[in-house]
Amino acid sequence: MTNQLIICYRCIYDSNTSGISFDNEGVCNYCKQIENLEKDMGVLVNFPDKEKLKESL
Ligand SMILES: [Zn+2]
Repeated sequence: MTNQLIICYRCIYDSNTSGISFDNEGVCNYCKQIENLEKDMGVLVNFPDKEKLKESL
């Protein structure tokens, strides 16, 4: 039984988040969705969490 905690490489979600899944690079499906949105819209989508992450670095 493996219950390893995985944290997304791009954001702060971990594998306890409901409905989350990770690709081979450790990026969650939510980040992939945002990536696709940004490509479709041609702009960067501003999410508060991203700004918080930048400030904490
Ligand atoms: Zn993520």
